[in-house]
Amino acid sequence: MNKGIELSKNKPYDVIVCGAGHAGCEAALAAGRMGGRVLLLTGNIDTVAQMSCNPAIGGQAKGHIVREIDALGGAMGVTADVSAIQFRLLNESKGPAVQSPRAQCDKKVYQYRMKHEIELDPNITLFQAMVTGLVYESGRVTGVETNLNLVFHGKTVVVTTGTFLQGLMHIGKNKNEGGRMGDFSAKTLSKSFLDAGIVLERLKTGTPPRILGSSIDFSKCSEQKGDERPVFFGFYDTRGDGDMFHVEHPGQSKLGWLPGTNQISCWITDTTEETSAVINGNIHLSPLYSGDITGIGPRYCPSIEDKFVRFKDKPTHRIFLEPEGRSTDEWYINGFSTSLPLEVQLAALKTISGLEHAIMLRPAYAVEYDFAPPTQIYASLESKMVENLFFAGQINGTTGYEEAAGQGLLAGINAVEKTRGNPPLVLGRHEAYLGVLVDDLVTKGTNEPYRMFTSRAEHRLLLNHASAELRLLHHIEARTLVSKDRLQRIKHKSHMVSYWTERLENEKAKGGFRGDHIRKSHISDFSAYPEEFHQLTSTVQMEVDYKIRYKGYLDRELRLMDRMRHMDKIKIPKDFDYKGLLKSMRKESLEKLDAIRPTTIGQANRISGVNPADISQLMIVLEVYHRESCASISLSSGQ
Ligand SMILES: Cc1cc2nc3c(=O)[nH]c(=O)nc-3n(C[C@H](O)[C@H](O)[C@H](O)COP(=O)(O)OP(=O)(O)OC[C@H]3O[C@@H](n4cnc5c(N)ncnc54)[C@H](O)[C@@H]3O)c2cc1C
Repeated sequence: MNKGIELSKNKPYDVIVCGAGHAGCEAALAAGRMGGRVLLLTGNIDTVAQMSCNPAIGGQAKGHIVREIDALGGAMGVTADVSAIQFRLLNESKGPAVQSPRAQCDKKVYQYRMKHEIELDPNITLFQAMVTGLVYESGRVTGVETNLNLVFHGKTVVVTTGTFLQGLMHIGKNKNEGGRMGDFSAKTLSKSFLDAGIVLERLKTGTPPRILGSSIDFSKCSEQKGDERPVFFGFYDTRGDGDMFHVEHPGQSKLGWLPGTNQISCWITDTTEETSAVINGNIHLSPLYSGDITGIGPRYCPSIEDKFVRFKDKPTHRIFLEPEGRSTDEWYINGFSTSLPLEVQLAALKTISGLEHAIMLRPAYAVEYDFAPPTQIYASLESKMVENLFFAGQINGTTGYEEAAGQGLLAGINAVEKTRGNPPLVLGRHEAYLGVLVDDLVTKGTNEPYRMFTSRAEHRLLLNHASAELRLLHHIEARTLVSKDRLQRIKHKSHMVSYWTERLENEKAKGGFRGDHIRKSHISDFSAYPEEFHQLTSTVQMEVDYKIRYKGYLDRELRLMDRMRHMDKIKIPKDFDYKGLLKSMRKESLEKLDAIRPTTIGQANRISGVNPADISQLMIVLEVYHRESCASISLSSGQ
């Protein structure tokens, strides 16, 4: 077993992960699966994988990310499946590319299972300590300092501290230090980043109140049931018993219950004109509008006061009532995030239909925190300023558990690859939402909490959630991310999908090809398929059907993708002297290129403000640069 506390400088951990939130858990587990010796430090061991806000995983584009995490061997998918109390496939009436699974989870069960998973991992040492600073030697990180006066040594460090860096919470004029209510604020770690030249800025997010379910009048709300046939996050068609996590096997879950059984409903209600009057009458008391909060909040998850200000014509706003678990009567008031004073929160809450007698368990609040603008990291998630230091999750300016977990997984893999001198895993925009996420962050940066949407992916037709294992197969194969057995099953699935797609496109049937008949038939009509096809697993059937029905669109997408990929193949050297070699370029473009230091022409092309003329100029200079460096290499080698 590769576990245990180790303080010797001569036996550094391969990876030290700071913070066991969604990013930290996946980072540690991925590094552990790769065979790395991992230390996972977290300020409070009782809050491992805590959902700070909404008790739900997945949703638009986020559900795609969870399936990609699952395909790459991550834990979020199965953990969400076994802890889910309600499943819903979003956009079910739309095309398969934008359909996305979502699950309401039992918050505590989710945490227990993830923690247990980490405890049982033979390569991970989980330890409760707050990281107070980083140790640097000659431009590299070599370890971390903690509040216990212990220094831990590591070849690499992954920072996943979420909303905790200088976290400050607001409820009206009331302010408390902390990354989350009831938690601490990481007050000294920010200085360590600043000392290394890493720039930090402020962002803000918020959460709604929680109330007692027994105080809700459900007769005034409309019920939202779960799907009868749930779509899970985990790919169980390629998992055998040995591939389930240490905690359970299919059909015998030790924590949680059988996925999809015994679902609980959510409920829908609306704010009223009275709510609008209470909020608008007290808007000056909101720290958002009084100037107390300076950090920018999530555009797509606005507070209730923000909604009334920004959408003045809308008299009411939708509210979703979501249970936080099976063994609790705590309910989450989705859509009612606010930082207004407590008295105003209570008054406003009671104006909502069904919540007239609401009993509050926890108040709503906003939190401001430091983040490190992500143009300071490479696509491997490694810092440009400090070698061997990786960043993942909310600290990179994102918001959401799934975005955090996906980055954590990649950072964990890449930290181990770095210790081995191997190239990092960088996913393309055409093969994964995670590729889009990382590329957007490192290329464009963000000045507001970044969340994923299907619209952010230009090749989204290629990124349907059910194909995650197939899209990522070559990456899974190149590393030990899943077991050999599962890899074989994924390869077999991939083979079956290709074989059947090709066969049906080329098979003659009644005055044409079978593929044409399928395209002409109704979406739910499988009668154009041969008998043998119906014996295949449903996942293979559905993927083949998608590829055949949408062939025209998918082919066009593939052609576009090829053009883009060509640009991504033209590499720009890390030390390319933009300012010296591109003197006549527009100032804005030059500064952005020099700051972001794209690694390919494709990435340079995606930087906002860099236009096609700048790219042409860059390509000409790059060609000369490559020619001259080749010439000097030939000369120096005497050829
Ligand atoms: C109040 C609030 C509201 C939110 N609202 C939304 C929302 O509406 N929509 C949405 O998508 N997301 C929301 N989020 C964000 C969501 O919780 C995060 O995106 C997600 O949890 C980020 O995951 P993470 O792993 O980066 O960080 P976190 O989940 O925050 O985990 C960080 C972990 O690091 C540990 N830690 C921190 N500092 C140290 C240290 N110095 N030493 C050791 N351990 C440390 C903490 O204990 C914690 O376990 C909200 C978060 C908060 C706090």
